[in-house]
Amino acid sequence: MSETRSEISQLGEFGLIDRISKKINLQNPSSIKGIGDDAAVLDGGEDYTLISTDLLAEGIHFDLSYTPIQHLGYKAVSVNVSDIAAMNGKAEQIVVSLALSNRFSVEAVDALYDGIRAACEHYKVDLVGGDTTSSRSGLVISITVIGKVRKERIVYRSGAKPNDIICVTGDLGAAYLGLQILEREKEVFKSNPGMQPSLDKYEYLVGRQLKSIARTDIIFDLEEAGVRPTSMIDISDGLASELFHIGKNSNVGVRIYEDKIPVDELTYNTAALEFKIDPVTCALNGGEDYELLFTIPQTDLEKLKNHPDIHTIGYVHDKANEHTLITKQGNAVALKAQGWNHFG
Ligand code: ADP
Ligand code: MG
Repeated sequence: MSETRSEISQLGEFGLIDRISKKINLQNPSSIKGIGDDAAVLDGGEDYTLISTDLLAEGIHFDLSYTPIQHLGYKAVSVNVSDIAAMNGKAEQIVVSLALSNRFSVEAVDALYDGIRAACEHYKVDLVGGDTTSSRSGLVISITVIGKVRKERIVYRSGAKPNDIICVTGDLGAAYLGLQILEREKEVFKSNPGMQPSLDKYEYLVGRQLKSIARTDIIFDLEEAGVRPTSMIDISDGLASELFHIGKNSNVGVRIYEDKIPVDELTYNTAALEFKIDPVTCALNGGEDYELLFTIPQTDLEKLKNHPDIHTIGYVHDKANEHTLITKQGNAVALKAQGWNHFG
């Protein structure tokens, strides 16, 4: 045992994963890609098998005072399926592990699984196992997903090339604002329990936080259009952080345009007028949108240009790790990735 003690918060989540990953050597030829992408890639014979796992801990990732437990079940599946989509693959099975404190009733577990089953039906995924144990500190849900992709369709974080076009799906920042609204209403309720939360106006934002949907539809659309992205990642930690991952893994830089980042009108107005925060900051650093970020060669742009939910936001260049945001005023500023740091 060494005498020194270093704090995890100094390394951060990504620093810690890097440190773990450096000491791991893959021994089996069937382990095609280990740590460092949205899912591990295994040689499954004709296809690649994809595996990813995500753990949600009460008090860190969710707050049951405003999260209906069915929604939590649905979301726990969505976040896993999203990582398989980010490899251009299709999820097929999940295993679900639970740690439960005695605060939880059988009915609560039923409701959690109502959500898990609804998601399985939506994504056409089979629940094939798991593990159950007790916990002294609330609820922990860990889901592992297994998926598949044809070998020639696999997409890594590492394939972006200079001059590729950067695309994002849907709109960004809404899930983060949904969380801010839920937190605000919780505070109001705590100080005045007679007050009913008024969430109707914010239904879209709150829905984006509580009812995450993985963009499996986009994987289908890309295939139909005959496009294989050169790189892809799902947006779980905010656009900026995901761009940094693509930049680092592909050894390239990115240039994106503020006025091209898709932000929904309600997101924009709620951020700017009510929370007095920059809507673009919500999109860049908010997270939990579970949209897809990918790059395509310029020659494929024509095939996607009429897709209503795919937006081009910039391009890739060869100056590794030089990431620039062109503001609405036309100024070039260095992109910063804050992301989420649970050890912060
Ligand atoms: P995502 O946000 O897509 O779920 P993460 O940032 O959680 O991805 O993980 C990035 C990579 O690091 C993945 O390949 C994941 O499998 C790996 N990873 C994360 N935590 C650990 C860990 N404790 N041990 C080994 N690998 C890990
Ligand atoms: Mg991911």
